[in-house]
Amino acid sequence: MSIKAPEIPYKIYLSEEELPYSWYNMRADMKVKPAPLLNPATGAPMSAEELGGVFCAELVEQELDNDTAYIPIPREIRDFYKMYRPSPLVRAYCLEQKLDTPAHIYYKFEGNNTSGSHKLNSAIAQAYYAKKQGLRGVTTETGAGQWGTALSMACAYLGLDCKVFMVKVSYEQKPFRREVMRTYGADVTPSPSPTTAVGRKILEEFPGTTGSLGCAISEAVEVAVSNPGYRYVLGSVLNQVLLHQSVIGLEAKTALDKYGVKPDVIIGCAGGGSNLGGLIAPFMGEKLRGEADYRIIAVEPASCPSFTRGRFAYDFCDTGKICPLAKMYTLGSGFIPSPNHAGGLRFHGMSSTLSQLYHDGLMEARAVEQTSVFEAAELFARVEGILPAPESSHAIRVAIDEALRCRETGEAKDILFGLTGTGYFDLTAYQKFNDGAMSDYIPTDEDLARGFAGLPQVPGQD
Ligand SMILES: *Cc1c(COP(=O)(O)O)cnc(C)c1O
Repeated sequence: MSIKAPEIPYKIYLSEEELPYSWYNMRADMKVKPAPLLNPATGAPMSAEELGGVFCAELVEQELDNDTAYIPIPREIRDFYKMYRPSPLVRAYCLEQKLDTPAHIYYKFEGNNTSGSHKLNSAIAQAYYAKKQGLRGVTTETGAGQWGTALSMACAYLGLDCKVFMVKVSYEQKPFRREVMRTYGADVTPSPSPTTAVGRKILEEFPGTTGSLGCAISEAVEVAVSNPGYRYVLGSVLNQVLLHQSVIGLEAKTALDKYGVKPDVIIGCAGGGSNLGGLIAPFMGEKLRGEADYRIIAVEPASCPSFTRGRFAYDFCDTGKICPLAKMYTLGSGFIPSPNHAGGLRFHGMSSTLSQLYHDGLMEARAVEQTSVFEAAELFARVEGILPAPESSHAIRVAIDEALRCRETGEAKDILFGLTGTGYFDLTAYQKFNDGAMSDYIPTDEDLARGFAGLPQVPGQD
């Protein structure tokens, strides 16, 4: 294989000094701000005081701050980042050659830490603020397990107690993830569980359920609010999480700027929207301020299509309906993807910030089927070497599709995508794919109607 001598290196590394000193808050530049969280009992916006019962105080401030563009990264968090950041920005020369495309493909790789994904960027921030507030510990949910692992690592580092509710199907399919969390000292419970009131209620209503993120969130919140010295933390969806993840986009932009590269298309997978919100942050900032234009594409599973087939409405973030209401593209809090869905990104809703940007036409969304996602993952693994997480592979799929389109049109577009993590713990899904036993399920309109029927009535909302 002969590869022509590149002017841009395979990996663009940044120095520690180039690691951002502040996170960037896209909301500051949005003309239409994301809708506020509402109290489900009163329909009024959640006050800082109300949110403070569930979340750490400083994180509540970040959650509600729609105006401050740059929020300094505390030194302790920045020091922790130095253990695994700045993360490499890779020019996918081998993939370009394989696809025989004139496009230039870049990916920001967030999988080079033990948790295996970008989630550590927010986990360390959230754990830090909990510790600073003098709390004993935090509770959370985890789906595929990446968030739980990241939070366990952050809590171990800071000496905080960590209670994780893990969606039952993942708990059973990913015993090794569970052991990593336990190694870092976390207490891991399969959800729904009989250890909480909401878990018992869900088990009674849906015996044999394999669980969902929505159920696990309800359980984690219940434990946080009923134990003194504990708060709940969430690994995606919330404004504060997108804020912390902006470190991804800020680094990517610094690296590309060094070589004068301005991406034409920016692609990221979207579960709750945190990696995508982080990757696009500084680029979207320029777009919002009218300084530059970028095409931005969110990629979601066809089996959990919040953006492409969901409603833009206030909804519960959890199945137990104990969390505040968020205005977002949603499939309804009762929606559970079909059991054959193996690729993650299974949350029923989407970040309020990204939902507003999508609603305002500032970004696009595409839904892809899981067999085509795993085909892209396999191709990528074979030419670029990295075994990608199934979630990340949604972005790979669309990056490849865009590069193939360039082959037809002859355009040398610059494509940037987020490679959010590695797939070592997703080998049950890879096995299915390798055995030819993976199938696609696209929910019918009737399936979706059942989810929409559970949307709450909120005065002033259609
Ligand atoms: C959690 C996760 C995602 C999806 O979450 P977002 O909040 O949408 O970013 C994507 N990729 C990996 C590897 C993950 O662990």
